[in-house]
Formats: sequence, C-alpha cells, structure tokens
Amino acid sequence: MEILCERIVLLNEFYPLVKDPELPSIKPYKLIAEDSITAMWKYLFCYFEPTEPSAIRSSECNNSECIPSLPTYVPYFEVNSRIINTKGIQVLQDAVLFNEHYYNIKCRQKNCPGTVIETTRPYFHIFIDLDTRTHHKKTHGLKCQLADVPVTLNFVKQYRLIGVIEYIPGHFIGYCRKPSGQWLKCDDMQLNVEGCDETTVITPIGAIYIALSI
Ligand SMILES: [Zn+2]
Repeated sequence: MEILCERIVLLNEFYPLVKDPELPSIKPYKLIAEDSITAMWKYLFCYFEPTEPSAIRSSECNNSECIPSLPTYVPYFEVNSRIINTKGIQVLQDAVLFNEHYYNIKCRQKNCPGTVIETTRPYFHIFIDLDTRTHHKKTHGLKCQLADVPVTLNFVKQYRLIGVIEYIPGHFIGYCRKPSGQWLKCDDMQLNVEGCDETTVITPIGAIYIALSI
C-alpha cells in the first residue's frame, strides 16, 4: 500500500486524478497514467528535468552577426520501422535515424539569412523508440528474442545494451541486461525480480544503451 501511495504522488505530477462515478464512494478517484513510453521518457528525463536526454543538439551559424541559439535536448532516437520490420531488430544499428552532422540547414533565428551546421552529441544513456507498429491501432508490434537485440551500437562512441522494455497492451515489462550478459525481468505484476533466459520472446517497445566511455 505504501508503495502504491508513493507511486501515486510521483505520477500525479504528470497525470490527473479523476473522479470516477463507477468507483465506490469511499475511493472515488483514480489516476489515469496510461501513456506512451516515449512521452513518459520525454517528461521524466528530458523536459521536466533534463537529466537524461539521449543527445544534445547544437547549431553553428555561418552568419557572424547571428545570435547563437541554445542547444536542444533530444529525448530519444527513432528508427526506420520498415528496416526493422523487414530485416529484424538485429540490424538496429542501420535502422536508427541518427546523423552526427546536418549541413546547410537554414538558420532558424529570426531574420537571419545564414545556414547552420547542426551537430548531435549522444549523451550517457540512449533511449531508442522501438515502436515499429505500422498502425497505431495494431496492438502488437514485432516480436524478437532478447538475444536478437544488438549488444553494442555506435553513435560517435560505443554504447552497450543495458535494458529492453516490452509492451503488452496495458502493461510494460522491463528487462535489464547485466554486463555478464545475464538478463533480469522486472515486472511490477510479479513480486520478485527474476532471472530470465536470452531466448525469451518479447515485443520490444524501447531499448536503453549506456556509453562505454565519457
Ligand atoms: Zn543564424
């Protein structure tokens, strides 16, 4: 009960408590916290407190009189769904939409005629959105084994897989990967965190990687 109260306090910063006429009068409120994983990641780690953006994007204008714009936070990386859906999650490196530099972009500062080089610097943790459903009404995305998710990826520097999030309608399950390769299943519908085999079949909705060097 204590844990539930703590969760409600935490979640209520982001989601409303609403009065539900169908609930008993002694407990008439319920918290509606259903959301997409990318929206949650964005609120919790990037906008509310930008502690864990996946990358920081800055731009450099070729007009010396331009007022430099502030860097922006990139909450997560997206993937080319078609590549994942046809070739599998094994080719994640090629499917992630990431470019370190974009050249010759028109400057966004008001009245500036210049062009900018946009640079994206990946941060400590990278969250990759793996929602490859071709239609939002499709309840299930692509299935894979935990072992299919690439252990290392390169975005300027090397990153190691530390977790995969599974989505089954109405519920998220976290799988943590230890450096030894051992997997742990973190499911709040179960009492304990349990070890699990890398042949476990899941429907991933996100993957988290950590930088191997600073
Ligand atoms: Zn400019």
